[in-house]
Amino acid sequence: MKQNFLYSIIILFIVIFTITIDAQNKSNKYTIVIHGGAGGFSKNSPDSLKELYLNSLKEALKIGQDILKNGGTSLDAVEKVINYLEDNHLFNAGKGAVFTTDGRHELDASIMNGKDLSNGAVAGVTIIKNPISLARLVMEKTNNVLFAGRGADELGIKLGVEIVPNSYFHTDEQYLDFLKGSVKKYSGETVGCVAIDNYGNIVAGTSTGGRNYKIPGRIGDSPIIGAGNYADNNTCGVSATGIGELFIKHTVAYNVSALMKFKGYTLKQACEEMIYKVLPDNAGGIIAVDKDGNYEMVFNTTAMFRGVANSNGVFEVAIWK
Ligand code: ASP
Repeated sequence: MKQNFLYSIIILFIVIFTITIDAQNKSNKYTIVIHGGAGGFSKNSPDSLKELYLNSLKEALKIGQDILKNGGTSLDAVEKVINYLEDNHLFNAGKGAVFTTDGRHELDASIMNGKDLSNGAVAGVTIIKNPISLARLVMEKTNNVLFAGRGADELGIKLGVEIVPNSYFHTDEQYLDFLKGSVKKYSGETVGCVAIDNYGNIVAGTSTGGRNYKIPGRIGDSPIIGAGNYADNNTCGVSATGIGELFIKHTVAYNVSALMKFKGYTLKQACEEMIYKVLPDNAGGIIAVDKDGNYEMVFNTTAMFRGVANSNGVFEVAIWK
């Protein structure tokens, strides 16, 4: 009897202790930003098309917001938001990816966890329905960080992600651009998401079909940690979109974090330095969230599909400045 009482008291203490620790680690604050590519999307586009893009961005944001609002992790939010955008044929990631010069699709994606700088990426995959999910598995289930081409496809089969024929990625919209046969008017539609959750963890993810009419084997910045994607809980998370070669050349995503870490820049100053001063005009844009939940969406093209939601009630999507 006396022993049972003692056990009950101990259990009660453990429960109170766990609840207190949980409450301390949890802030009920979150911020999530998304992009659907930077480029030259025309203001004269049909209203129905603009609406389609804006509604898709809202839908994507809502998926991430619901996860974060209910105490889910930024890792899950970023993956699920990008899954939605990959499955949405309007964007150049997953279904709707651009064509290579030989009429096929090669997809790139990466994800990074700012908690411990762990990251995973895949490049040039051809049969993986959701490249961001394979990137996450590379991060979580292997001792490596980047897989490319056939090996990456085979890893996807081994790890049990959804496999599709390469023709799954085909859309008539992208096929028409392919038939025009040039690196077109730059219209983007790569997708990315950065979020900070209740626990202060920042995650960044980026997924793309690359650039229209790219040479087979060409890899851009999206799967390159530090160029198109980066996250560090001590500074910020960044996802980029634009001409990948320039983002690799200037190590854009990492440099935003480095300017904050080593030079004391604010998130805004760091993003603006990279996009307006370092990169040439019309190179692209970035979305970013810092450790305090501040966000930036900066681009030097005419348009960037983008959106933000946070625990202060902000919920916005936009295309032009
Ligand atoms: N950055 C991507 C790449 O170069 C393309 C894009 O963002 O539109 O592959």
